[in-house]
Amino acid sequence: MASQGSASPIYRSQEWQITRARALRAANYICCFCGTGLRGRGRSRVDHVVPIAKGGAPYDLGNLRCLCPSCDNKRHSEKGRGGAEKPQIDAQGFPEGWR
Ligand SMILES: [Zn+2]
Repeated sequence: MASQGSASPIYRSQEWQITRARALRAANYICCFCGTGLRGRGRSRVDHVVPIAKGGAPYDLGNLRCLCPSCDNKRHSEKGRGGAEKPQIDAQGFPEGWR
């Protein structure tokens, strides 16, 4: 949990701390996915809708959403699963709708 090797330096800036607190307040300290309360240390995650690496605005509240650690983990495991979806293949080995 402590190792976020490629975490942006933005997350260590004071501006981020302020923006993060503001985003949480705007969200009423509630997870946007499951509605769990986010008050308390280590109980909240503030996430960029468009990742900074993809040009998302780091300090724009419109690009932030607040979620609880378990929704955050779920989201990351979905992202990490990766791999393109395989098309449906019929018994003869042809993609469905091929004929
Ligand atoms: Zn949640």
